[in-house]
Amino acid sequence: MKKKILIVGGGTAGTMTANNLAKKLMPEIERDEVELVMISDSKNHYYRPGAMYVAFQKAAGHEFIRDQRSLLMPEIDFFVDPAVEINTKANYVKGKSGKKYDYDFLILATGCEVAAERIPGLVEGGDWFYTYEGAKKIAEKFAKIKSGKILVTVNFPKTPNIPHQCGIAPVETTMMLHDYLTERGVRENIEIVYTYPTKAQAVENGLFLQSPTSKVLPSVFDSINVRHQTGFTLAKVDPESKIAYSEEGESISFDILMSTPPFKAAKVIRDSGLSKALDNEGWLPTDKKTLKVIGLKNVYTLGDTVDLPVSKAGGTIHNQTDVVADNIAAELRYGYPTESYDGKVIAVAQMGLTCGMPLWYDYAEDVKPTPCSKLGSFMRLGFNKGLYWAAARGML
Ligand SMILES: Cc1cc2nc3c(=O)[nH]c(=O)nc-3n(C[C@H](O)[C@H](O)[C@H](O)COP(=O)(O)OP(=O)(O)OC[C@H]3O[C@@H](n4cnc5c(N)ncnc54)[C@H](O)[C@@H]3O)c2cc1C
Repeated sequence: MKKKILIVGGGTAGTMTANNLAKKLMPEIERDEVELVMISDSKNHYYRPGAMYVAFQKAAGHEFIRDQRSLLMPEIDFFVDPAVEINTKANYVKGKSGKKYDYDFLILATGCEVAAERIPGLVEGGDWFYTYEGAKKIAEKFAKIKSGKILVTVNFPKTPNIPHQCGIAPVETTMMLHDYLTERGVRENIEIVYTYPTKAQAVENGLFLQSPTSKVLPSVFDSINVRHQTGFTLAKVDPESKIAYSEEGESISFDILMSTPPFKAAKVIRDSGLSKALDNEGWLPTDKKTLKVIGLKNVYTLGDTVDLPVSKAGGTIHNQTDVVADNIAAELRYGYPTESYDGKVIAVAQMGLTCGMPLWYDYAEDVKPTPCSKLGSFMRLGFNKGLYWAAARGML
């Protein structure tokens, strides 16, 4: 009988995996033994890191959006129909349209979303670059500020050992901010204060979520005159007086608050009952090797939705997608999964407007910081401008 594979979410993880599956299972698709269906809540595909460049006036935003259908191989059926219910007992997902999409294998790839409302006053008093709307708003403020203080804060999920979206982004944007204000000729009148919470995954009282990078950051920030401080876990913001308060009992005033806000999984995942994450954050319990949702034999997940200790990043998904696609293909062909994820993350961090730092790590080894370079930046900009779309199509 024909097997149905359903992918929920047309972002980085869903798109790469759907295309990889179409390639791996082409013989079965041609024999009409396998059907691939994707549902998403948008007709558009957003290259999310692009928002960072919008925040510093290096892009308008539209450059990073493509029609989702155009990124998928023709063998994949695509429907814009937001998932509203996941039933893993009866093996179906219900769309907002009322249609039930049944499956033999399910891939949950609905990413995560900003949950700024979880910090009192942050929505009114803070800014963030993690959405295109947020990036446009903060870009206007960055373009106008002539003097004062820009405060950087970082929040982590309440569920232990889980990172916020894109672990390196607060460092990247602090350095981009320094370069951007220097370009504008106002840097010397503006103080930049980078803060980090007391607890950041396995690191305590550091400036980053992994120890080797945390140790080199003070000298990096000192070299560009960025004040840095650990032990500041944002608890609330007073939008009127522009003061940020920490759980540790401190307060810092600001003119602009560039925050990494709390994040949560998509509503359909939070409502599904599949997650045991604290504070209804919704991270899916994920087998760190097979990438199956723990306890469910035919449901896989990857990307920002998982509860793994690796970065919620495209550079993570690039290393997870083949594991999921190979395992499903192997289950169909041999009856058991064959691949194992080792926690690998490979990316190029944008350390300032013209410097790129290749980074890689896995479950066993932390990132080893290396000097950033113009060549690194060239690679990163090349990825932003074109290579990403090839990667999303499963060509890279
Ligand atoms: C500002 C910024 C900078 C970043 N920088 C980097 C970087 O330098 N390097 C790096 O590797 N990564 C970076 N990332 C992280 C990277 O973009 C994400 O990890 C990646 O996009 C996650 O992919 P995903 O498929 O899990 O989620 P997404 O790409 O968010 O896709 C989720 C999809 O699910 C859909 N969806 C949601 N709810 C439903 C529903 N109910 N029904 C159906 N569909 C639904 C959404 O519409 C979306 O299409 C950055 C992210 C941001 C925001």
